Amino acid sequence: SRSIAGRVAIITGAASGMGRATAKLFAAEGAHVAVTDLDLAACETVAAECGANARAYALNVSDKNAIARIVAQIAEDIGGIDILVNNAGISRHAALDGGEDYEDIWHSALAVMLTAHQRMVRAALPHLRQSDAARIVNIASTEGLGATPGLTPYVAAKTGVTGLTRGLAVDLGPEGITVNCICPGPINTGMTARIADEHKTIYAKRRTALKRYGEPEEVAHMTLSLVLPAASYITGAVIPVDGGLMAR
Ligand code: NAD
Repeated sequence: SRSIAGRVAIITGAASGMGRATAKLFAAEGAHVAVTDLDLAACETVAAECGANARAYALNVSDKNAIARIVAQIAEDIGGIDILVNNAGISRHAALDGGEDYEDIWHSALAVMLTAHQRMVRAALPHLRQSDAARIVNIASTEGLGATPGLTPYVAAKTGVTGLTRGLAVDLGPEGITVNCICPGPINTGMTARIADEHKTIYAKRRTALKRYGEPEEVAHMTLSLVLPAASYITGAVIPVDGGLMAR
């Protein structure tokens, strides 16, 4: 099939940025979307933008019990799960000699951007197994392929996501469940909103082939292409969507 119409998709961190753009695109393609994020009101706003095909759920992905509870709730409310997009993320500068601050940033980076993904997958698995075109997409980063100074916890978590993706692809391949990973480059979202436009322009001109930041919709389209039923022979792939950042 060339469409995700009627498929059920869970997206984490969907109240903002790439998660929001992905929720809107999937809903426009006719999927039933579970918009999940920390703040229920923000999820409800995005679900309303998505139209009748979306529902909002508060889900803090660093809460193990909440993952089990909410994933089961979504499967019951909407009717199964076909697609999981692990997108929630946080980014904080971490000085190596920052003492306890560094410890905190390290633990939260791994909790939100690596441990959570594995828990989401295992919670969704019984439902994904019922689907004839089960799809998992993990949002990593070009920081999972190279490193910017001062971001070691983020780089470690995102590099971990590339490994998790390969491991899951191998483990779930025999069941026909595909698992892929997207590595966005610099994208205009809530995460990068605090960076001044002037700095973004300088960075993009120096580092990307396309000489600009990307938009969240440009990542959402790659995510869509990976979850189509027709994307049945793509698994274990780690795909940059980075305006040519890693090509330079
Ligand atoms: P964003 O800040 O706009 O959105 C991230 C969302 O994740 C927010 O709505 C936030 O509330 C949510 N979130 C944070 N912690 C959470 C938790 N514990 N439980 C549930 N939700 C949580 O940022 P974005 O850029 O759209 O980020 C999406 C993903 O893309 C992240 O994994 C990020 O690391 C990654 N990424 C971003 C860029 C970029 O340049 N913006 C580049 C590469 C990768």
